[in-house]
Amino acid sequence: MNAAENTAGNTTPGLVCAHTHLYSALARGMPAPPRTPRDFPEILELIWWRVDRALDLEMLRWGARLGALEALEAGTTAIVDHHSSPAAVEGSLDVIAEACAEVGVRVVCCYEVTDRNGADGAKAGLAENERFLRAGGRGLVGAHAAFTLSDETLDAVCGLATDLGVGVHIHVAEDPVDGAAGERLAGRADDRWIIAHAVHLERTLPGTIVHNPRSNLNNAVGYGRPARFPRVALGSDGIGADMLEEFRLAFALARADDVTTTPDTVWKWVATGADLVPETQDDRVTWSYGPMDPWHLAYTPGVRPNRVEVAGETVLDEHGPTRVDATEIRARAVEQAARLHEKLAEA
Ligand SMILES: [Zn+2]
Repeated sequence: MNAAENTAGNTTPGLVCAHTHLYSALARGMPAPPRTPRDFPEILELIWWRVDRALDLEMLRWGARLGALEALEAGTTAIVDHHSSPAAVEGSLDVIAEACAEVGVRVVCCYEVTDRNGADGAKAGLAENERFLRAGGRGLVGAHAAFTLSDETLDAVCGLATDLGVGVHIHVAEDPVDGAAGERLAGRADDRWIIAHAVHLERTLPGTIVHNPRSNLNNAVGYGRPARFPRVALGSDGIGADMLEEFRLAFALARADDVTTTPDTVWKWVATGADLVPETQDDRVTWSYGPMDPWHLAYTPGVRPNRVEVAGETVLDEHGPTRVDATEIRARAVEQAARLHEKLAEA
């Protein structure tokens, strides 16, 4: 039984956030960039690449704990994370995996390989993916996006993924700046790949397309009509992990584009997440609302889990998370966010 079928009552399997960046949890309220970004490449250069360069392992630890806590509080029991911290590469995936495990959320990790931090940066990113995966970590090989990867580095990413028997998790054609990605990745991608965004992807690639409705709106990159792709999942791209909220937004966006779209179509995107982390089918979320039917959920705000069980263990009940102290996580994350914001203000 998957999330698409089990909708009659007020329980479902755990939901999956199929693309996110846990470190973004510390970015809220960050100081304004040196100037207002005018387009997507400037959003990366002036905001996100400055944030990721400022991260250290202690920030990652508390950012990931906060992100995992908020996922659990939204009934999301698995996160597919895409990580970058160029000043703290080695061991970063362990920190994220441990933080999620402590909270009781499943995570599929990867480190974002890119050439934008030089040849040594690319090498360090490849090494972190390899180190983590060879040690038995759950994950994929991460890559930023084709437009920041040389053919040589892209080959190294694909080669490592093939050697390790996993897919590649990569941003694809999020903005026209990456418009050549489809052509470069055709022949390289396979069914195990996770392809985030695909807003401007002009062809179908093997793998799972992850639609990130709120992030795409926030970055003004356009609407990619994800319904045109055969396999679509939903992600948050770093803005929380509330998949019911992403579902409602994805539905409104799809409906704005084509008024015949039904909630069932968009709920299938939520359910596809389960194919990426099949164990979530054994997780059980009891919700504050029933029935958990797409036609109800598309128009019902504020549906929250009352109880979350992961692999048979209750990790969230009516008092909150059972394994960790939510108040402490929030307080420590605020401290680490302040450290991050200070570094950004100085940079
Ligand atoms: Zn992303």
